[in-house]
This record gives sequence, C-alpha cells and structure tokens, in this order.
Amino acid sequence: MANQELESAADQDAKPRSPQIYINGELFDKENAKVSVFDHGLLYGDGVFEGMRSYGGRIFRLDQHLQRLWESAKAIWLEIPMTPEAIAAAVRDTLRVNSIQDGYVRLVVTRGAGTLGLDPNKCSDPQVIIIADHITLYPDEFYEFGLEIVTVSTSRNHPAALSPRIKSLNYLNNILAKIEGLQAGCVEALMLNHRGEVAECTGDNIFLVAGGELLTPSIDAGILEGITRGAVIELAQAAGITVREIPLTKHDVYISDECFLTGSAAEIVPVVKVDSRQIGDGHPGAFTRDLTAQFRELTRS
Ligand code: PMP
Repeated sequence: MANQELESAADQDAKPRSPQIYINGELFDKENAKVSVFDHGLLYGDGVFEGMRSYGGRIFRLDQHLQRLWESAKAIWLEIPMTPEAIAAAVRDTLRVNSIQDGYVRLVVTRGAGTLGLDPNKCSDPQVIIIADHITLYPDEFYEFGLEIVTVSTSRNHPAALSPRIKSLNYLNNILAKIEGLQAGCVEALMLNHRGEVAECTGDNIFLVAGGELLTPSIDAGILEGITRGAVIELAQAAGITVREIPLTKHDVYISDECFLTGSAAEIVPVVKVDSRQIGDGHPGAFTRDLTAQFRELTRS
C-alpha cells in the first residue's frame, strides 16, 4: 500500500513545513493535494468518508470506523481500492508524518474521475484521501455550561431514499439543517425523521436522561450509527445505567432531565436549552458529567 515516499516521510522525525496530505499512497503538501474536477466526489457527492479522533497518536476505535467506511462503500457500490489493514497503516503514517498526537483524521474515498454523466461505471480511479489535522468543534464554554440547540424544519433524509447510515460525501441534508440552526443563533440543530420523531443533530447523535435512564433514538429512527454513541452506550451499561433505544419525540426532549450530544469531533457536549426551553436545571447534569469523565478516561487510556 503505502509507497516509498510515504514510508520515508513517515520515518522523518522533524515536523514537515506544510501539512502532508495522503492521496492514493503518496504524500503531498497541503497546497498541492488535489483531485480532478471530474471526480464524482465533487460533481455528485459520490463517495464516503469517516471523521476520527486520535488520542496520544492512536485513532479511537479505528476498526469500527473502517468497518463503517466499508459498509457505507458497499451500500453505494463503491469498491475501496485498498485493504482495511493498508488504510489503517496509512492513517497511522499520516498522523506520524504530521506529528499529530491528539487530533482529527478525515478519511475520504471518492468515486474517482469520470464523465459529466452520473454513471459511476465510467469512474476508474477512486481517490483515497487522508487528512490529519486538529479540530475544535465548539469553544470550551459549551462543554462547561452547555449548548443551546433548536429543532429545524429540514427533516432527516428518508431512509428509503438515502439511508442516514451511509456516511456519504453528500451532506446537503445536514448542511441545510445546520444553516437553519445557525440562522436561529445555534451552532447545532436537532433534526426529526420522516415520522416526526427525534433523529439526531447535523453532525452528532443525541441522548436524553430521564428518570435515571439513558434514552436515545434507535438506528431505525434513521440516524448515523455513531461510534461515540456506541462507546457512550457501553460506558453507561457498564456503570449499571439502563439504556433504552426507543422512539423519542420533541416532548421527550423538553421534559428530559439532561440532554447531550455525541460525535467523534464533538466528543460529548451537554445541551441545556432546546427550542428556548430549559433542560433540567439549565446546567450540565450529573449523568452527563460522569459519562464525559468516563469517556475521557476511555479515550486517553
Ligand atoms: N450523526 C451524524 C449525522 C454525523 O455526521 C456524525 C459524525 N460527525 C455523528 C452522528 C456522530 O458519529 P461518530 O460518533 O461516529 O463520529
């Protein structure tokens, strides 16, 4: 997989001057990391991706991210031109080359360059792109004092049209919801599904605490099966907390004791106001704080 250039660059200890971007086995300076304007990833959002965090130079749950990438690719008939082991090695090398310990990795596989028609069979060279960087999704104060979110009118993609389980390069559904949230002064927005139930936020899964139990929409609510979501469910269960994956309504959110969001980039962020209604006592609650502490320990261990 990784070619000579990647391996020799990975062996260098010195931090390269320009961020190094991996494309198909080669490393490029950020300024020279380019794909074709005929790539269907650009023309049609035809491709898949993962966003992952690294802690101490190691990707949290890399295997799960790769599994989801392969599942997304399979769902859109995209053959990834590398093995999971080769991509895992390339991700690690790209982190190392860029001297990133605690950071964020964007792994993208596009359909590749084709013609100006939709036909993916005319695309011959899928691009495997790895960007290692740092990310701060929200300022510290949101983690300390909690976030305010709003429910938006853009509903989550109908699973029968485009399954939200596919982490595809077409994020317009989420972007439209994000714009609505931003216009209402909120950095994150709550999306309902085609049935009017709570689904997820534009880039995060949602959890509620009610009556000492942890509640979250199930996968068949039409959501992305978040890897952070899975880790939080495991932590809660290990702590003896009942976790219920059930249909939830806006009403359930409004009357919940606590609310928080999960995502690789966001990690765990408390929510203290939804649609102008205060959640619980208006401060990040004890369950959220405890799970956040446990998540921190899990990711840093
Ligand atoms: N839902 C959506 C729509 C997302 O894009 C993401 C990832 N940013 C998540 C949930 C959280 O998933 P994960 O924990 O795997 O990052």
